[in-house]
Amino acid sequence: MNPASEPILIVGGAGYIGSHINKGLSGQGYRTVVFDNFSCGHREFLKWGEFVEGDLADVGQIRGLFAQYRFAAVMHFSAFTYVGESVSDPAKYYANNVTNTLNLLNVMRENTVNKFIFSSSAATYGDPVETPITETHPLAPINPYGRTKLMVENILADYSSAYDVRYTALRYFNAAGADPETEVGEWHDPETHLIPLVLDAALGTRKNIQIYGTDYDTPDGTCVRDYIHVADLADAHIRALERLLRGEGSAVFNLGNGKGFSVREVIDIAGKVTGRNIPVIETDRRPGDPAVLIADAKKAESVLGWRPRYPGLDAIIESAWKWHRKLFGEKAED
Ligand code: UDP
Repeated sequence: MNPASEPILIVGGAGYIGSHINKGLSGQGYRTVVFDNFSCGHREFLKWGEFVEGDLADVGQIRGLFAQYRFAAVMHFSAFTYVGESVSDPAKYYANNVTNTLNLLNVMRENTVNKFIFSSSAATYGDPVETPITETHPLAPINPYGRTKLMVENILADYSSAYDVRYTALRYFNAAGADPETEVGEWHDPETHLIPLVLDAALGTRKNIQIYGTDYDTPDGTCVRDYIHVADLADAHIRALERLLRGEGSAVFNLGNGKGFSVREVIDIAGKVTGRNIPVIETDRRPGDPAVLIADAKKAESVLGWRPRYPGLDAIIESAWKWHRKLFGEKAED
C-alpha cells in the first residue's frame, strides 16, 4: 500500500504537538486531516492538509468524520495536559482523556480503521524507582492526568488483544522547543510550562520565574527533567506510524534525550541563549512533581531507528526563543 494514498487523521492537530506532526507528515507527502475543537488548539496552526471542526464528546460528529474519509491511521493528541488542573477537576480529565478517547476508538472499530498512535506520557510512571526509566519500569501514576494516560494504554492493550486493532503508545518526557522554521510552536493559555515561562521572564512580559522547590534530592535541589525537542517527537511519530503501516504489532516507546537538566540549569542556559537577565524567585514545591524524570529511549532508537536531531538543551531553547519572540511580537535580532 502506498501510505500516502489514504489520509492520516490527526485529532488535536491544531495543538502544540499535533501541529508539528501535521507539518512533518505533510512534508513527507502524507495527506492529513486535522480534527479539532479549538479548546486548546489554534486556527493559526491549520497550515497543512484538510480540516474538520468537531469534538470527540459528540459521537455523531466522529461518525460523520469517518463517513467523509477513509483513514489509513489515526493519531490522537487532543487530551488535557495540566497536572494541577487534573487534581482539582478530575472529572474534566476523565471525560476528555478517557471517555472521549473511547468514543474515537469505538468509531474506528465501526469503520474497521485499526491503526492508532497514542500520545502518552512519562506521567504514567509516577515517582521513578530507577533512573533512567525504561518502558518496563512499574506504572504507578501519582496524579489524575497520569492515570488517564495509563487507563487509555490499558484500554488499548485490551482492544489490541481482543480486536483487530494495533497501536503505538509514545510516552513523552518534557516536550519543548518549536518548529525551526517558526511556523508553529508552543502556545498554551494559560502557560504553565517551565521553558516558555522562563522565556517570558527573559522577554520581560513577566517579572520573574518561580522555582518550585529547592529541597529536592538532586545535585542543586531543583527538579530534573529530560527535555525533548518537539520536532524530534514529530519524527518519532512518523517512524511509529510507518511501522504500523508496514503491518507490525502494537508497542510502547519512551521518547526523551536520556539527559536530565535541573530547573536552575534550564534558567542558566536560557540566560545564555537569550543574553537576558532572568530574575528568579525560589518558592515551595508544586504538588505532584517527581524529583527526577529521565528517559531511557534506547528501544525507540533500536526499533524505530530514531535519533534526536536536537539533543542539546541550548538548541531546544534557541528554537523556543525564536518562536516566542515571533509569537509575542518582539523582532528577532538575528
Ligand atoms: N517549574 C518551575 N517553575 C515554573 C514551572 C515549572 O520550577 O514556573 C518546574 C516544575 O516544578 C518541574 C519542571 O519545572 O520540575 C518542569 O515543569 P513543566 O510544567 O514544564 O513540565 P512537567 O515536568 O510538569 O511536565
